[in-house]
Amino acid sequence: MNSLGVDVQGANIVELSGVTKEYAGGVAALRGVDLMIAPGELAAIVGPSGSGKSTMLHMIGTLDRPTQGSVQVAGHEVAGLTDRELSALRARHIGFVFQQFHLAAGVSALDNVADGLLYSGSGLKERRERARAALDRVGLGERTTHRPHQLSGGEQQRVAVARAVVGEPDLLLADEPTGNLDSAAGAEVLALLDELNRAGTTVAIITHDLEVAARAPRRVRVRDGLVVADERAEVGSR
Ligand code: ADP
Repeated sequence: MNSLGVDVQGANIVELSGVTKEYAGGVAALRGVDLMIAPGELAAIVGPSGSGKSTMLHMIGTLDRPTQGSVQVAGHEVAGLTDRELSALRARHIGFVFQQFHLAAGVSALDNVADGLLYSGSGLKERRERARAALDRVGLGERTTHRPHQLSGGEQQRVAVARAVVGEPDLLLADEPTGNLDSAAGAEVLALLDELNRAGTTVAIITHDLEVAARAPRRVRVRDGLVVADERAEVGSR
């Protein structure tokens, strides 16, 4: 944001500078991480269990604050914001997809997606219209009245993706999005994330799965709380 409260074009969506995170008991989960993600990127953040990926997700997703260093999302410095302002920042700028889908049971696909707009201030009719369009986008336009238990795992995750993008966030942050899916359903969800990225959404996928990471044009490797490699595929090799 500039001083007039307008989003600055071309700035990084995510900027972590010298980020450390120590948990109670002295565990240093992150030990000085610098990471920039520019608009339009698709980055996989990949590392083995215990390397600090979830902690990075919490930093990038503004779900927790760093011990030291600076976290900026969509131009906002997290340190300067109250918890309430952070919630608003997340609602406006970040769409989350989790391994466990986190859909509301007993609620239709349409209303699960429409709930992604609860903080937008729009009325139910408009939320449902936008939810319908988002479900169309993920190929579930025919499943709007289905409840989660009537959908396959892959379909549930596509509903979760629709919910994450219905508000057109600056960043789609996916935490092990294929972790609960068989390989065919997982491939479909990854193809969907590719497609959204090609249409302009910035995507960060957190994963321990090297195959998932290998598909991404950018791979940020994390180990022992540090970024140990940051690789970009050649343009056009995707
Ligand atoms: P990953 O997601 O790659 O498995 P994490 O970010 O969960 O890694 O964990 C990194 C390190 O921080 C690990 O040593 C883990 O045990 C520790 N850790 C994570 N969360 C907490 C917490 N809430 N309290 C204490 N230690 C934690």
